[in-house]
Amino acid sequence: MRLSRFFLPILRETPKEAEIVSHRLMLRAGMMRQEAAGIYAFLPLGFRVLQKICQIVREEQNRSGAIELLMPTIQSAELWRESGRYEAYGKEMLRIQDRHEREMLYGPTNEEMITEIFRAYVRSYKDVPLNLYHIQWKFRDEVRPRFGLMRGREFLMKDAYSFDLDQAGATHSYNKMFVAYLRTFARMGLKSIPMRAESGPIGGNLSHEFIILAQTGESEVFCHKDYLDMAVPAADTNFDDIAGLQGIVSKWTSQYAATSDMHDAAAFAKVPSDKQVSARGIEVGHIFYFGTKYSDPMKAVVATHDGKEAPVHMGSYGIGPSRLVAAIIEASHDDAGIIWPEPVAPFKVAILNLKQGASDTDAASEQLYRDLTMKGIEVLYHDLDERPGAKFAATDLIGIPYQVLVGPRGLAEGKVEVKKRADGSRENLSPAAALDLLSR
Ligand code: ATP
Ligand code: MG
Repeated sequence: MRLSRFFLPILRETPKEAEIVSHRLMLRAGMMRQEAAGIYAFLPLGFRVLQKICQIVREEQNRSGAIELLMPTIQSAELWRESGRYEAYGKEMLRIQDRHEREMLYGPTNEEMITEIFRAYVRSYKDVPLNLYHIQWKFRDEVRPRFGLMRGREFLMKDAYSFDLDQAGATHSYNKMFVAYLRTFARMGLKSIPMRAESGPIGGNLSHEFIILAQTGESEVFCHKDYLDMAVPAADTNFDDIAGLQGIVSKWTSQYAATSDMHDAAAFAKVPSDKQVSARGIEVGHIFYFGTKYSDPMKAVVATHDGKEAPVHMGSYGIGPSRLVAAIIEASHDDAGIIWPEPVAPFKVAILNLKQGASDTDAASEQLYRDLTMKGIEVLYHDLDERPGAKFAATDLIGIPYQVLVGPRGLAEGKVEVKKRADGSRENLSPAAALDLLSR
């Protein structure tokens, strides 16, 4: 992509309305724009990151055996009356009437709809386990939308729903999601910690929030320090190995980790004091087993082995991709701007032509741009007629992992300079060697 043909409305001024660094940086870097309180347009740079995040989420959901579909944003009130949640949900739900005065709503979540889909087709124990997910916009009329994408009113969610014959099956489905979540966040360069969360009327401890530590997080959290160094399960983890997965989950839940809602000061006090982490955190995912809470009233039943019928055991599993864009920035930035972890970066490489219009730098930049593009690498070529200082600042701000500086002095010696955004390290290389390094 040539910057001259891209749409990247970088702001010079730091926007006053933004209270936290991710919100400030996203506005300055031209990633998104507020259209109404808690409602944002993703501009091209932000949209590229959002898509990268969704793709990682999707790959890890698929790896665990979940199946993608797409449900609508608008739902009928009727469905929510069946579960009893239409009245109960309160003011967070955006209620709408269509031209026939039918009551509709903009979905804040999809338990009812997925249960309706399940019961329409599935009849037998042979057809479960099943886990269906989608990545779709949600609307929750939050009392206090704030911090930009962190707490929006319209936001993107990956929500998965599992269906099993019994609690043992549901536990295995839960464990699959648990492991998938550990991998998902790690692939985005984040350290996520599964923390015990409120599990509602069903009890047990089958509810975990996945938390990223960050000073600006809205939750107060407490955990054992060892979580910060635990290795996440490998890509070849066998998701059908019931005992194996349980082993991983047991290991990841054996140390103390809880949000303030579930905090047990006495239990936390038993953690050696040098291992006690008491911090703030951002909830990026939440997994939840709720048994037959929806399948019972909505009659989602399957025939069991002995020919009887029983409501299915369900769980739901959410991740917030739009919140993650902000959470990743909270976890990875410096004074100059964003530092994207490579897997979610909007572009991998930025080419900075330090003397736009000079025949040697133009030719070398163009050549490198073509070569990198041919290798399938995502490149942003800063080809505007601006001072080097302005180009450095803009490229640092938007956080592209590698910068290639193409200047007349270096070129006279047949070299370009490759700078790594994360640690500022620099290397003088021939264009061929730079190409080699960047396509690794
Ligand atoms: P919170 O406690 O932050 O309000 P929640 O418990 O309501 O979250 P869930 O219903 O479990 O959230 O939603 C699943 C995921 O969706 C959350 O883990 C979070 O990543 C994301 N999410 C929830 N609410 C918002 C929001 N208002 N803006 C952006 N992302 C959100
Ligand atoms: Mg909420």
